[in-house]
Amino acid sequence: CYYDSELEKQIIREQEIEKELHLAETDPADGGLYLQYQPILDLRTNRICEFEALARLNSNSLGLVPPMEFIPIAERSKLIIPLGYKIFRQAFQFLNKLKENGYGKIRVSVNVSILQLLTRDFCENLLGMIREMQISPDRVGIEITESIFSSNYTEINNILVTLKKAGLYISIDDFGTGYSSLARESELNVDYLKVDKYFTDRMLANPGKSIVADIISMAYKLDHCTIAEGVESREQVRYLKEYGCDKIQGYIISRPLDEKDAIEFLKKHDKSFAKVT
Ligand code: C2E
Ligand code: CA
Ligand code: CA
Repeated sequence: CYYDSELEKQIIREQEIEKELHLAETDPADGGLYLQYQPILDLRTNRICEFEALARLNSNSLGLVPPMEFIPIAERSKLIIPLGYKIFRQAFQFLNKLKENGYGKIRVSVNVSILQLLTRDFCENLLGMIREMQISPDRVGIEITESIFSSNYTEINNILVTLKKAGLYISIDDFGTGYSSLARESELNVDYLKVDKYFTDRMLANPGKSIVADIISMAYKLDHCTIAEGVESREQVRYLKEYGCDKIQGYIISRPLDEKDAIEFLKKHDKSFAKVT
């Protein structure tokens, strides 16, 4: 009985989330769907070079629903396709605000679900939106998780070639956790490998055996740069710097921020990272 009632609650919650996602799709103001932005620090210059856009869903009935919960529902219901474009649109509006505030060089990367990436006309639609909103393509990044390369490898790589040719940059997210083969990695048309928090967390427990240093040196040999995710301590920053990691992202720099706070953050903190690193 207990199991049944828990299961029922879960089903009702998922239905509620799907309803909110439908609302976000039809509402010109995107309902409860909005983005937060987490800064990424360039370890060589000690400056913020980029933000990662992270989707949020604020529902009247459920409050804030975490992306790990609503993104899979959006994918199952295929709502991720229209919502994915809304996410891009919001991210591009943020890019234009950054420019207005004098941060015209800072980039924004957006997480893209495989389902959206593989829809017909994805490149055309995205590049059309970039032109329409007068965004410079080299300020736009897309992040795709490593696990998606287990299927449709050639098709995905062709899409990445088109996007890279247009000037966008590509990151492989959660690197090290999904399917990957070295041979294929070297053929991939990507710019960055994002080292998953799983490895960042374990890096200092046994530094001699940490594979983070190996990922960084492998990435370097393949002409990819590295971004370490989930960096929380100064010791981690020191280790990453020592092994030549290019960029870091994590609570040591900042949690994901609302748009206004992200711009305030740049104004206040952009010159003060010498203290952290
Ligand atoms: P992700 O792309 O790996 O995003 C990084 C996650 O790590 C974010 O969680 C971020 O808030 C969290 N994080 C960053 N730094 C730290 C840290 O120092 N410590 C800890 N404990 N956590 C940290 P979030 O925002 O909950 O996002 C979870 C996942 O949801 C993302 O993982 C991504 O896979 C997915 N997601 C988020 N936004 C979108 C989106 O717009 N589209 C798609 N398709 N997926 C998205
Ligand atoms: Ca990501
Ligand atoms: Ca990640």
